[in-house]
Amino acid sequence: MNTYNVIIIGSGPAGYTAGLYTARANLEPLIICGYQAGGQLTLTSEVENFPGFPEGILGPQLMENMKKQATKFGAQLIFKEVTAVNFKERPFKVIVDDGEYQAKSVIIATGSYARMLGVENEKKFYGRGLSTCATCDAAFFKDRKVAVVGGGDSAMEEALFISRFASEVQVIHRRDALRASKVLQDRAFKNDKIKFIWNTVVRQILGERFVTGIELENIIDRSISTLEINGVFVAIGHEPKTKIFQGEIALDAHGYIVADQSGKTDVEGIFAAGDVKDFRYRQAITAAGSGCIAALEVAVYLSEN
Ligand code: NAP
Repeated sequence: MNTYNVIIIGSGPAGYTAGLYTARANLEPLIICGYQAGGQLTLTSEVENFPGFPEGILGPQLMENMKKQATKFGAQLIFKEVTAVNFKERPFKVIVDDGEYQAKSVIIATGSYARMLGVENEKKFYGRGLSTCATCDAAFFKDRKVAVVGGGDSAMEEALFISRFASEVQVIHRRDALRASKVLQDRAFKNDKIKFIWNTVVRQILGERFVTGIELENIIDRSISTLEINGVFVAIGHEPKTKIFQGEIALDAHGYIVADQSGKTDVEGIFAAGDVKDFRYRQAITAAGSGCIAALEVAVYLSEN
């Protein structure tokens, strides 16, 4: 069986950038893309904060460009799902539905996904008024009314950030107390633009093509109301895609891969890049940057081993 120098698992900005750099270093990487290649950006519409595109670019187009650029330099792509790994033996084993690959090194770039509300039609409005990233999309809501769902640190940070643009920010939280740290709570309470709707959940997103409102349910008295808004930011947490790595490499209490800034994990030769090791920044550009770093580190690792 062919032993690859490096297998990259994942095809978001981190995976494709790692593919580009390792391909240009003549390492002939294999990228296992998953069935739905391209990561979270394929779910979004306009991306205005990826440098190099002053007019903005559609998320799926940006990912298509990254894919082309990686393959242009010889990265091999397969569109299969990794079902298991064995990092205890060398070469490392990466198992997919119908076979197995082996490699001297692996870059894990499987990303994370934003938890969604689970209400009917929220997928339809993703990128059409519904967002999971204020840093990416708040500027689209200048002088408009938006809601933020959640009561944790992310929800408060998103609400505070959006308040720089929006005319009004309604935080919808399912309890009557926030989970967020005291300092962020205080900042949000002091902000005139931020209002709170307690003990309430979102039942439905309203609108034709774009969000025009949300239907809310008060979970104490079960009353239903409608809130007219132009945007809804879902900030109820993220889940890293690390199930298949449990027991193979160190994960933190939230399931993120424990890795240093260069992407090194606790297993020599296994590197991590992008959102799968980063709960803080979660940007396409930071993921791409960490994919580049992991690729450079892989080149060093392979030359030393
Ligand atoms: P989180 O702390 O897990 O908070 C999630 C929030 O969403 C909670 O308020 C939760 O409600 C609510 N929620 C969860 N599922 C829901 C559902 N289905 N419907 C409605 N509401 C739901 O997540 P996070 O805010 O993303 O933070 C993740 C971690 O990153 C935390 O450890 C946090 O401290 C850290 N973080 C830190 C900073 C910072 O230090 N500046 C910034 C961002 C994140 P309940 O409260 O009722 O459970």
